Amino acid sequence: MDTLQQLPKIQYTKIFINNKFVDSVNKKTFPTLNPATGETIADIAEGEKEDIDIAVQAAKTAFSRKSEWRKMAPSERMKLLNKLADLIEQNTTELAALESLDNGKPYKNSLIGDIPGVVSVFRYYAGLCDKYFGKTYPVDGDFLCVSRKEPIGVVGQIIPWNYPLMMLAWKWGPALAAGCTLVLKPAEQTPLTALYAAALSKEAGFPKGVINVVPGYGPTAGAALALHPDVSKVAFTGSTEIGRKMLSYSAQSNLKKVSLELGGKSPLVVFDDVDVDEAVKIAHDALFSNHGQNCCAGSRTFVQAEIYDEFVRKASELAKKKKVGNPFKEDTEQGPQVDQMSINKIIDLINSGVKEGAKLQTGGKRIGNEGYFVEPTVFSDVKDNMRIAKEEIFGPVQSILKFETMDEVIDRANNTEYGLAAGVITKDINRAFEFSQAVRAGSVWINTYNAVTPQAPFGGYKMSGIGRELGPDSLEGYLETKTINMSVPCTH
Ligand code: ADP
Repeated sequence: MDTLQQLPKIQYTKIFINNKFVDSVNKKTFPTLNPATGETIADIAEGEKEDIDIAVQAAKTAFSRKSEWRKMAPSERMKLLNKLADLIEQNTTELAALESLDNGKPYKNSLIGDIPGVVSVFRYYAGLCDKYFGKTYPVDGDFLCVSRKEPIGVVGQIIPWNYPLMMLAWKWGPALAAGCTLVLKPAEQTPLTALYAAALSKEAGFPKGVINVVPGYGPTAGAALALHPDVSKVAFTGSTEIGRKMLSYSAQSNLKKVSLELGGKSPLVVFDDVDVDEAVKIAHDALFSNHGQNCCAGSRTFVQAEIYDEFVRKASELAKKKKVGNPFKEDTEQGPQVDQMSINKIIDLINSGVKEGAKLQTGGKRIGNEGYFVEPTVFSDVKDNMRIAKEEIFGPVQSILKFETMDEVIDRANNTEYGLAAGVITKDINRAFEFSQAVRAGSVWINTYNAVTPQAPFGGYKMSGIGRELGPDSLEGYLETKTINMSVPCTH
């Protein structure tokens, strides 16, 4: 057998509310597809406004004063989060297989990348449950003034399909560490691992109503959650276009807090002092990892003139060698894109690149008609004003641009409405730091790329987002600050 794993059995397909799996109120379902074949994997209960209302009410009750969750000691919350991490770890092969089946990413990547990453995020936030602090303030007057951090309340969380379980962990970890209750809407393309995680959260012992998962579509379930008057914060990861809607939903409803992790068009700058083979490899992984379906993908590869031709040649050779195919085959490096819409957008942008005069070095086409596979594609001679240099492609398409000087490349790197991430490859520490400090981006990677860790913040400048995920910063986004001033007799 050349496949790595038997296809997993689908156990959970319903809405998860109050620690129970239930049908949707309207008994509707929607299919979740296998992107490697285009066939239906399972029909999933389709949540709509009515289901969101029930889920939010469950989360509201779980958050009410004197509830089990509200009274729970932080060290007990820590145990629950660690227990959830343990259960995810114990179910790694099952979760990795579900993730790859639903999303299309190679099984081995889910197994050694996504799922262990999820476990680390939960363990990190387990550790933070009793490590956030208020302050005392030296205020005017005879007062003892302290601040206290309190959970923000019921939160709505809306996540995308590119790293389904990882995005769930980024949202659940800090929310639960802060003591919030939550309703999560997974992406319609990839609901399976979120429902499995819901079942594990019950097994871990979270009280009913603390965690609720409502699968469904964005304009129905997603919008109902973001508009709900009893939701105190919405945490969203997805496109900039829908991120805008989140702010308007907040404005139309109850001015709920909004955190956004949105798109990017991240520059990766390669100076001419590098080992070209090594730089080509870093730049390749920066773009092609997860089939280019990565908000911080290094999708503008700027290469200094001296090494440009050699770099383009080697980058194209590497892309040509990439093994595309069944995510469950051992040697597969790139599986299918997530769905037909995604393929349409990628092919449209590739065609625009050719039309606008970029040089197609390799790839450029869809592979076959079954499933949603695209050839690893490399363009050289890309100019800043071309669509492929400006728009987020979210596919396996590398655009290589030429530059001459530091000042020029800083200006060009920053000439975008996005600001999620950036990278620089050089052996010269002054170049590395000059670029790192000048680039307008939330994360900068030097001589590496995609180095995202649970402990450090991640998020965007400009239209790439509001707020930060991961690290203590994300936890802060789930907390309110209350100032308490007590009159005391004068003591000095
Ligand atoms: P992508 O382009 O990566 O699919 P989207 O921003 O469209 O990103 O989707 C990310 C998440 O936002 C998904 O869970 C999707 O269902 C949800 N979503 C899409 N449209 C809306 C909307 N109008 N209101 C609320 N959520 C939405």
